[in-house]
Amino acid sequence: MNRIIFALDVYDREEALNLSKELSDNIFAIKVNWPLVMTNGISIINEISRYSKVICDFKIADIDNTNRLITEKAKENGAWGIITHSFTGKKSLNAVVSAAGNMKVFSVVAMSQESFIDEHMDELIKMSIDENVYGLVAPGNRPEILRRIRSMATSLCIISPGIGAQGGNIIDAITAGADYVIIGRSIYDDPQPIKRLNEINKILSDD
Ligand code: C5P
Repeated sequence: MNRIIFALDVYDREEALNLSKELSDNIFAIKVNWPLVMTNGISIINEISRYSKVICDFKIADIDNTNRLITEKAKENGAWGIITHSFTGKKSLNAVVSAAGNMKVFSVVAMSQESFIDEHMDELIKMSIDENVYGLVAPGNRPEILRRIRSMATSLCIISPGIGAQGGNIIDAITAGADYVIIGRSIYDDPQPIKRLNEINKILSDD
């Protein structure tokens, strides 16, 4: 099983498509964020999904109706998964899950940097479980917090950013409970992204 979700935070369409094509055999999925989608339009999701599952990291944080509209657009354009905030409450989260259908919903319960949601983390985890999300986004560079999240959400899929450029260590994140690690700059900023990805996969397979 491959445990890498590649965070494709570049602007350029050609660069994004080339990286997707070159790396797709050795990753689990590609995560796209606003920089790429704002530059190239929503159709970039479909283009990238020719090579890999695509998770839209839109960190949706609005009222229920707007959340539904955003979720439907991601789904219509071929996304496999979508990331939403949960701090906006039950009604907003429910709108994303309902509109997603079989697209996977991941809710953020803690950021990879300290934030105001930290003090409500347990409630956010419980609400996410009650609303039937598929998975949680939990910080790979904050292993203690990640461990707590895993202990409360034993059966959800946990995806974890914060590895490499943000200081987190891949083995610590997996040991603390991540199913998949999200890695961006450490791969695409490397002069040889394929080689770098292979090295990371080797660290994981040796573990
Ligand atoms: O380049 P790097 O590996 O730090 O990329 C991490 C990715 O994960 C970025 O796209 C960032 O927006 C995202 N992310 C994060 N922390 C969260 C949720 C998502 O760093 N809590």
